[in-house]
Amino acid sequence: MIPVTTFKGKAVALFGLGGSGLATALALAAGGADVTAWDDSAASVENAATAGVKTGDLRNLDWTTIAALVLSPGVPLTHPKPHWSADLARAAGVEVIGDIELFVRERRVHAPDCPFIAITGTNGKSTTTALIAHILKSSGRDTQLGGNIGTAVLTLDPPKAGRFYVVECSSYQIDLAPTLNPSAGILLNVTPDHLDRHGSIEHYADIKERLVAGSRTAIVGVDDSYCERIADRIERAGTNVVRVSKRNVLADGIYADGARLVLARNGATHEVADLSLIQTLRGAHNAQNAAAAVGACLAVGVSEDEIRAGLASFPGLKHRMQPVGRKGDTLFVNDSKATNADAAAPALSSFERIYWIAGGVPKEGGISALGEFFPKIAKAYLIGEAAPAFAATLGEAVPFEMSGTLERAVEDAAADAGRDGSGPVAVLLSPACASFDQYKNFEVRGDAFVKHVAALPGVSMLIEV
Ligand code: ADP
Repeated sequence: MIPVTTFKGKAVALFGLGGSGLATALALAAGGADVTAWDDSAASVENAATAGVKTGDLRNLDWTTIAALVLSPGVPLTHPKPHWSADLARAAGVEVIGDIELFVRERRVHAPDCPFIAITGTNGKSTTTALIAHILKSSGRDTQLGGNIGTAVLTLDPPKAGRFYVVECSSYQIDLAPTLNPSAGILLNVTPDHLDRHGSIEHYADIKERLVAGSRTAIVGVDDSYCERIADRIERAGTNVVRVSKRNVLADGIYADGARLVLARNGATHEVADLSLIQTLRGAHNAQNAAAAVGACLAVGVSEDEIRAGLASFPGLKHRMQPVGRKGDTLFVNDSKATNADAAAPALSSFERIYWIAGGVPKEGGISALGEFFPKIAKAYLIGEAAPAFAATLGEAVPFEMSGTLERAVEDAAADAGRDGSGPVAVLLSPACASFDQYKNFEVRGDAFVKHVAALPGVSMLIEV
């Protein structure tokens, strides 16, 4: 835990007692703050009280005595409308911050030079975060991994010289971190998402810009127009910018030439890494993630040899285009995280011949946006509620069967793939659907896929089951 010492002896209000909120309340109390914590859910309040947190309705506080309101990132700060606790704080002129800001302040006081890499973007945050942490760890560095990826940042070990922090930041967390100042900050991409919570894409992009604007070195993916403009703007303002592209040659920066990552600097270019044999980093989207990871690692002093070794041994993240097993020419891939058509597109674009398992609870638009990939799909195996609608979309273009269950789909896809004979093929679970009709969540669905693959005769598993 990182005790928050910057509010020692001060009164702090905290709203939102989910996992990270509770950890934050405990970290503030451990550092000597007088925290009063609350949540709209009585069960969360009771749970926090049991854990030793002082709880109380924030509406009953004397806000003239409060130094800060610490908000959970899940609580609306601005859109669709500010939460009542944020309104109370603003009315009293009290600053509203989140746990990442508390971490940033602790680092500033206790170890301002310890390397801190922060990652944001609409897509690819977790993959890039995990990849960077893996490169650092495998090169023997003391590495702390947290933030939006699932480990509350204040549960990490305290900042000290030589300790590396790799922190995934959602827009909500950035919005609550006004003095965010990473050694290396990554903005991967900006596409419309979560606009319900940010009002407009411009506001959403502005928030993401803050992470790189405050960075000593900013690594920016310049494949979309928002990020392109952000890179230019912060560079003009004096930030050191490293541009990254998954599709265009750059005069200066890191770009993907197919599966090769090329570093261009001072008029010279050289290959920093070749991703073609790294199963866990397939596809142009992963080239963007890997190029950004390379930029950040170089910025904090990791050597190219160390980076190459880390890339090559990256185990990948569960449920995201994760290679899980192999039988002959067939690779079994778990992409259960793809809960809509957009999320399934990167996986479908990354393999040449695909036995595709899809279905579940469909999202608006179904799979009609995926038509460009249909020629690569040898056959589709449809499961769950979406099966009839997906079958209608596939029509004559793609052979399919109504498998119903995931188990049946895995068995049939494996048998057909085994008879394919044309070279490497993938049996890919990338459902383009939520899982709730058949599974509790996408993780449980992905685990079920792995279990069914492991039960097939003659499969070598690539992961521990
Ligand atoms: P996030 O943490 O931002 O949600 P993840 O790393 O968990 O992102 O990846 C989630 C899914 O998003 C992946 O399964 C893949 O389909 C897609 N994805 C990953 N990286 C990128 C990228 N750089 N650009 C576009 N899509 C991506």
